[in-house]
Amino acid sequence: MAQVIAAKYVLGMDGERQSLLQDHYVYIEGSNIEAVTQDAPAATDDVLRYEHGLVTPGFVNIHSHCLNGALFRGIPDDLTLDPWIPELIYKILMPLGKIASDELSAAELRSVIALGLIDVLKGGCTTVMDMWHHGQEVFFDMARELGNRVVGAPNILSATKVGFNAKGDIDYAYGGDGLGQLARSVELFHAHDEGRDGRIQVALGPHAMDTCEPDLLREIRKTADQLGCVITTHLAQTPEEVALLWRRYGKEPVAYAQDCGMLGDDVTLAHCVHVTDDELAVLARTGTHVANCVISFARAGINVPYARFADAGVRTGIGTDSHGMNFVNELRTAGFFSKLHFNKGHVASAHQLMAAGTLAGADALNRPDLGRLAAGAKADLLVFDLFKPHLQPVWDPVKNLIWKGSAADIVLIMVHGKPVVRNGELLTANEGEIIRDAAKAARKIWEIGARQGVLPETAL
Ligand SMILES: [Zn+2]
Repeated sequence: MAQVIAAKYVLGMDGERQSLLQDHYVYIEGSNIEAVTQDAPAATDDVLRYEHGLVTPGFVNIHSHCLNGALFRGIPDDLTLDPWIPELIYKILMPLGKIASDELSAAELRSVIALGLIDVLKGGCTTVMDMWHHGQEVFFDMARELGNRVVGAPNILSATKVGFNAKGDIDYAYGGDGLGQLARSVELFHAHDEGRDGRIQVALGPHAMDTCEPDLLREIRKTADQLGCVITTHLAQTPEEVALLWRRYGKEPVAYAQDCGMLGDDVTLAHCVHVTDDELAVLARTGTHVANCVISFARAGINVPYARFADAGVRTGIGTDSHGMNFVNELRTAGFFSKLHFNKGHVASAHQLMAAGTLAGADALNRPDLGRLAAGAKADLLVFDLFKPHLQPVWDPVKNLIWKGSAADIVLIMVHGKPVVRNGELLTANEGEIIRDAAKAARKIWEIGARQGVLPETAL
């Protein structure tokens, strides 16, 4: 007996491109899609029917920090900072992260990570590549329990201290145990990576170009080649980072990354805000992937237009970073900010954005079996109910979804052949309990942060 999803619209494949199909059936056998076809199911098949449904591949989010998303919710928004991103990262988020590492009990950490993973899932991301610190590897257990497909990338750093010096420049202390952290990442790989048959994978996550020294990066490259895993890191996040790489190495970020083995089709670089057009050409030539996280920078008044990268031939997927996990909203914002940047309406079309959030993400993870509805692919999918005032009538369901829809319109989320959310209800855990416990844990960290002068006292 096959599991079958019957829907008005199915975003299937025509060769390597997505193609909209009408009145089709998605047949699922175990964890895989068996067929996408017009052949009606047998009477004995287990059929879920969605008269006004649009079935899409589950979104593949290639840059996230789901713990931070939950723990720092609402804190960065609307702050007066100068320079905004470095002040936020170095004066607020990193100190708060340190407090969280020191003060959260194992149970509290579990609940905050669980909240983040549920947020990601309900945001429409059946797969997420997520960066966090060593010591937070309970991430893998929570993903196993909740039903997410994850690629966990624990941070590896040479820098021990990052902050501002007396002149107001970003300053770093190096000499951290990067090789020790790399060794622990390798241990985690052997303990948790399930390959393509499972839902849990491990990637190597050098934190950023300015926090990792060349020898460490070269060692990470060697190790990734041995393990056959992907690498992800942050690049050109701030002008301060670019200036520091010039000062230390006399190179732009992409040249520095290339020198240290950090470019290639197994590497995903988050952000790349301050790269030149020449650097974009190098990224395109080397097949390096970029994770565009537009909202994270929009908070600071900075536009990182998706289409600038995609139009330069760079393999560009989408990430949420730690702002918020509603992936439909992320795709829409990526689209509007691209149109604004180029002052052209046709730039970053709904179909292009949909492909960026699915196929391009899968490509970055070297997973041709994800991000598509086709025979042999993993059964990771979403069903959107289009029978809503904001989604009817339907001219093109993908356009309606990207420009007018929301993750709240999802009525079924399936990962690895198993329904994990149905009609908004999480099927794998007690969501209410997790929300309550995580909120309590976050408030504890905020209160300590306020006492230490990292955060202002909250009004609540
Ligand atoms: Zn990040």
